[in-house]
Amino acid sequence: MSLRRRRDIWDVVVVGGGIGGLTAAWYAARRGLPTALIEGDVMLGGQVATVNTLDDWPSTKDESGVELAAAMAAKLENNAVEIVHQPVVDVKRADDLLLVKTDTRIFRTRRVIAASGAKLRSLDVPGADALRGKGVSQCAHCDGYFFKGQDVVVVGGGDSALQEALVLAPLCKSVTIVVRSRLRAKQAYVERAAAAANVKFVWDAQVEEVLGNGTVNGVRLRNRGSGALTEIACAGVFPFIGVEPDTAYLPAAIRRDDSGRVITDQRMRTAERSIFAVGAVRSGYSGELSGAAGEAAIAAATIAADLAR
Ligand SMILES: Cc1cc2nc3c(=O)[nH]c(=O)nc-3n(C[C@H](O)[C@H](O)[C@H](O)COP(=O)(O)OP(=O)(O)OC[C@H]3O[C@@H](n4cnc5c(N)ncnc54)[C@H](O)[C@@H]3O)c2cc1C
Repeated sequence: MSLRRRRDIWDVVVVGGGIGGLTAAWYAARRGLPTALIEGDVMLGGQVATVNTLDDWPSTKDESGVELAAAMAAKLENNAVEIVHQPVVDVKRADDLLLVKTDTRIFRTRRVIAASGAKLRSLDVPGADALRGKGVSQCAHCDGYFFKGQDVVVVGGGDSALQEALVLAPLCKSVTIVVRSRLRAKQAYVERAAAAANVKFVWDAQVEEVLGNGTVNGVRLRNRGSGALTEIACAGVFPFIGVEPDTAYLPAAIRRDDSGRVITDQRMRTAERSIFAVGAVRSGYSGELSGAAGEAAIAAATIAADLAR
């Protein structure tokens, strides 16, 4: 028999079921706070839902994002957290409560933890949109196999670009990484990419167009110094050019930084003191899962102390 029942008032509603949100819900529930977690997607796990082997996550074994999210979700079920799969469209104050709205439900809660993370930015050039799913992909683990023995291009110089390039390298004939200026990835990824015989770099270049007719057959690049145009033949293009935070549902009074990320104090409290933000949606986030989990634990502990007063 399920322990869950529909409540009238929650102590905590967590928005987002990535690793930040799952950790926040788990800590809140462990502190005895009635908690709901609302995830807009059908899957839990957020950005790492499709990552086969997590790096820099303090686990005793190699783990995929899906495995980690499933294990965490099972713990939430055991702790009677209600998990709902619907996008949150609005959060607003009503007297001393917050109303968290989805298309079909309104959750009344004392505190909200915004853990809505960030979406991968798409490549905004001709051809990229039209050829999405026809050679343009943002998931090496899901789609890499389709490019077995073929040439592919990865766009970007950060951790996720190199991590995904290293997933593609054993499968593909060649992986060309197009970097706008310099690499910002961890040294371990840089060394592994440099050591892979079929991985090469194109520096100081940006993609001008994804080429293809029905399916991708190349990219047109512009050198950022000389302006010279070149073309690379490839069957796949994998853009990892940063992320955009998802905060549209939060009140306008909550302060954001120039990149749109939510500003908090050290206890993860936003300008609206009953709303907290953790993980990739938060200004100053470290960029790593361990950081999201740590912030989530701080937010839950702060809320537990607040509500105990
Ligand atoms: C390809 C790739 C590989 C990576 N590999 C690693 C790694 O190995 N190790 C590591 O430490 N980091 C890695 N990262 C970084 C890591 O994924 C992020 O730092 C981490 O996912 C942030 O977690 P989060 O919970 O804050 O946000 P997210 O993972 O972005 O999760 C946010 C969740 O909120 C949901 N959401 C958004 N808006 C709403 C809404 N309005 N209503 C309801 N739900 C909503 C989203 O659907 C999503 O599930 C990787 C990133 C990428 C892109």
